[in-house]
Amino acid sequence: MAAEIEKSTLLTTLKTYFGYDTFRNQQREIIATVLAGTDAIVIMPTGGGKSICYQLPALHFKGLTLVISPLIALMKDQVDGLKANGIEADFYNSSQGATLQQSIINKAAAGKLKLLYVAPESLAGLSPILNENYISCVAIDEAHCISSWGHDFRPSYQQLGFLKKTLPKSPVIALTATADKATRQDIADQLNISHAQQFLSSFDRKNITLEVRAADKRLDQIKRFLAKRPDTSGIIYCLSRKTTESVSEALKVEGIEATSYHAGLSFEERNKVQEDFIYDKTQVVCATVAFGMGIDKSNVRWVIHYNMPKNLEGYYQEIGRAGRDGLKSHALLFHSYADVLQLRRFTQGAGNEEVQNAKLDRMKQYAEATTCRRKILLSYFGEFLEQDCGNCDVCKNPPQFFEGTILAQKALSTIARAKETQPIGVIIDILRGAKNAQILDTGLDQISTYGIGADVSWKDWQHYILQLINQGYCEIAFHLRNSLHLTQSSKAVLFEGKKVSLTHPTEAIKQEVLTEKK
Ligand code: ADP
Ligand code: ZN
Repeated sequence: MAAEIEKSTLLTTLKTYFGYDTFRNQQREIIATVLAGTDAIVIMPTGGGKSICYQLPALHFKGLTLVISPLIALMKDQVDGLKANGIEADFYNSSQGATLQQSIINKAAAGKLKLLYVAPESLAGLSPILNENYISCVAIDEAHCISSWGHDFRPSYQQLGFLKKTLPKSPVIALTATADKATRQDIADQLNISHAQQFLSSFDRKNITLEVRAADKRLDQIKRFLAKRPDTSGIIYCLSRKTTESVSEALKVEGIEATSYHAGLSFEERNKVQEDFIYDKTQVVCATVAFGMGIDKSNVRWVIHYNMPKNLEGYYQEIGRAGRDGLKSHALLFHSYADVLQLRRFTQGAGNEEVQNAKLDRMKQYAEATTCRRKILLSYFGEFLEQDCGNCDVCKNPPQFFEGTILAQKALSTIARAKETQPIGVIIDILRGAKNAQILDTGLDQISTYGIGADVSWKDWQHYILQLINQGYCEIAFHLRNSLHLTQSSKAVLFEGKKVSLTHPTEAIKQEVLTEKK
């Protein structure tokens, strides 16, 4: 059937119902695949144009296209948009009364709908029409929600595997903006579409400048950042509700239209924040990660991460909300070691602790990178840039390396002589010959390297030791009160003359003091 649909027919449908002249990215190939009855997994960045990949085929199928979506709040908007384009669509979820729900089922059964949006937890209610007399295609939006490997796991998604079994001839198209390889595989497995054709669009968002700064006096930095960008819209992501509130309060004092958003607000309050932001009544939203999914605002000029996110998928999706209009935009991440420690505590005891820690490590590598950040970010999604991007802080201001072997030896031998029992702060105190009570009372001033690094400032030592950690010459034992330990590679530096390159502390990569109060 559908396989014979000609290219020109698809273009006509695109123009007639959506008003566009050409397909974007891989839209055409994806649509042809689905229409040929083949399952598809579509990975496309936010704003890439995923919706048309199932909305357009829906118009050519005989039966209904079922769209599984987690975003009840947005279903009405999506359906209204389709209706405005002359497409028969509706939605079915728990916000509707029984009578209304029944009338929607009746409409679908009578063949009067092309698309039906449904929340996964409401699927059971559709059982009268869950068969191939009525349904021709299943689209699963935000498909990463099915995977506990992903960053936005929803238990209600985990039952969706039954759809392929119940509707074996109907193609399934699973769509998401974020999925590393493991998550992609998990999506395919759980949905029972292991032979699905996979479509991976480029994740490069060239118009977004990437920058990382040390989390020193964050608020002051943000105020200066905003002063340079008057009247621009942006989002500040924070880890806790409390921080969203304190940051927005601090900005309001400066006369900036800021507000906070988190899961503790009522449904109505959250809606209002979103609308005010979309209609430019609020300039800045300080939010937890709960904010932004599905928000279609094209002129977000910048996204700031006040705290470090827990993985690169989440980070990428959040910064992807900037610059959807293609104009120059900015993503600024504050890197704080205290955040890393806190995130590490969150993962402790979690079922997939190892996976989460590995992801956090990748996030940290990005934040501490001394090479092009975009290369690192894209490589996470399996994409490789030939050349450095020229639009990240590392490219614009490359770090200068110097021969740091002596510094490394001093630090590593101090760690060894402290018997690998001390955290980074105490190691620095020993190196600098500090005379505080903690050092003197525990006899650490008796260590033979005591004071051999007095000529280097505390902050600089911190910068060097964090680099040694990143380069694998020592490590933090998180389970042993963050004490510094040596690694296999330490020996090569201490005893075999292995050379170590370090970078000078620049503004961009200076670290915040470990003990900073939250
Ligand atoms: P996603 O779901 O991937 O975030 P959307 O489907 O919401 O993206 O599409 C993002 C924007 O791009 C929408 O405004 C949409 O109308 C527009 N768009 C999609 N496909 C095309 C196209 N072929 N030509 C022009 N604009 C398009
Ligand atoms: Zn770069």
